[in-house]
Amino acid sequence: MNYDFFMPGQTIFGWGRRDELPRCVLRYSARAWIVSGSQTLNSNGVLDDIFAGLKLAEIEATLLTTIRHEPEVRDVDDVTATLLASAPAENDVIIAIGGGSAIDLAKAVAAMAKNREGESVADYLEGVGRGLRIKRAPLPVIAVPTTAGTGSEATKNAVLSSYDPPFKKSLRSELMVPKCVLWDPELTVSCPPHVTAQSGMDAITQLIESYISRWAQPIPQALVRSAFAGAMCSIEKAVAEPGDRSAREQMAFAAFLSGVSLANSGLGLAHGVAAALGSIARVPHGLACAMMLPSALKANREVKERELGPLARAALHQLTGDDDAVAALIERIYELLDRLKIPRRLSDVGVTEAMIPALVQGSHGNSLSGNPRDISDEELMQILKEML
Ligand SMILES: [Zn+2]
Repeated sequence: MNYDFFMPGQTIFGWGRRDELPRCVLRYSARAWIVSGSQTLNSNGVLDDIFAGLKLAEIEATLLTTIRHEPEVRDVDDVTATLLASAPAENDVIIAIGGGSAIDLAKAVAAMAKNREGESVADYLEGVGRGLRIKRAPLPVIAVPTTAGTGSEATKNAVLSSYDPPFKKSLRSELMVPKCVLWDPELTVSCPPHVTAQSGMDAITQLIESYISRWAQPIPQALVRSAFAGAMCSIEKAVAEPGDRSAREQMAFAAFLSGVSLANSGLGLAHGVAAALGSIARVPHGLACAMMLPSALKANREVKERELGPLARAALHQLTGDDDAVAALIERIYELLDRLKIPRRLSDVGVTEAMIPALVQGSHGNSLSGNPRDISDEELMQILKEML
């Protein structure tokens, strides 16, 4: 058995532990820039508290930007230019406080601040760029997630969008894994219900897709087994009772491990299509993944029944055979989507039949290539048409 495994250098997990941020920063520098992602954070005083804590520790902290949408190529270019105007030193820190958008933006800016061969981050993107590579270590990134979903705090890529031309592609390098993750599940309490639902389903999709990926690995699989049942049981409670500590902790744990797992093992069909749904129909990432998950499971169940069976039995507390357990899992996910008010039909999120050829085309990329079996364009077209 051969495998490699990587994850962030330091993980600090626990309710209320955001106070420990200054200590993390000081390992690297006494100067930091903050990329913030959420309006809620600004309005509920969390960001003010964080600035006050940093100031008390004599850290010079500046708010670099606040992002409220999934990051675009031009966001990275603009924010990098702003940062470089302040001439950051070798080990100055970028702190990302927010959901996947803020963390991805911070990771991309930290990388671009040190890698200046291109004119734009677009030159470095997979599939669409000029093939430039990240050769120098980015500025150290400390990720402080405020949503339990993308797992970006643990991954080596930043997903960037463009709408003209439309694409959603990754900037990727093992050097981009955040140096430190400070995971305080209490920060997710102010997350609105629909964001909790969609990002939680993203994490569940990432757990499943990385578990059965073509490149699945034993350590990430062990992590998925330890997080999956807890996420399946907790997601509804986290939405219905936002202050429930146990549910928030389970979802934070699942989201973080889903990031560790996907960074090592890759993803599959649902994430491949979600990228296209994002750039062509502007469907938010978590929503797109949630909607695609049942179809991805149906498309892969025959080849991955032996892996999925035990995972499904543990989550559903069933003692049935693999085939029945996987069928029950798919049914349970449909039920979850209904209860979380996530639509089943693509037409409900603005997808039209005319978009399907472009969606099929746009689904090819790193995620889809991790799917456990090849999916032809004809099959993908069929799957999408059935979901209209
Ligand atoms: Zn995802």
